[in-house]
Amino acid sequence: MEHSLENLKPLIRCPVCQKKYEPGKVVLLSEDDRKTALHLTCETCEISSLVFVSLGKMGAVSFGMLTDLERQEVKKFYGSEAVSPDDALEVHQFLKEFQGGIEECFSKPDTI
Ligand SMILES: [Zn+2]
Repeated sequence: MEHSLENLKPLIRCPVCQKKYEPGKVVLLSEDDRKTALHLTCETCEISSLVFVSLGKMGAVSFGMLTDLERQEVKKFYGSEAVSPDDALEVHQFLKEFQGGIEECFSKPDTI
């Protein structure tokens, strides 16, 4: 099965307003067979977020978190030593252990 950004698009939503992202607004940060990291900027609420998509036996799971980093910054940040494979592994582990639905994954700041 071809695994590409194209296939993941239906999973990629703004964690705040749930709007689907336009392909042009998505920056691919890293990708391997099972994990994809993306940076997104929402056109509607102009909030930037990082989205990790993990592919497992249950299918693809996405996990979004808000970030202050702009598109250019995050590329620099992600390409540097600051983010190691361990960080990606940590997210992967989180997804593996996470038992709730995808909606619960997306906690809105005002409900925490
Ligand atoms: Zn939004």
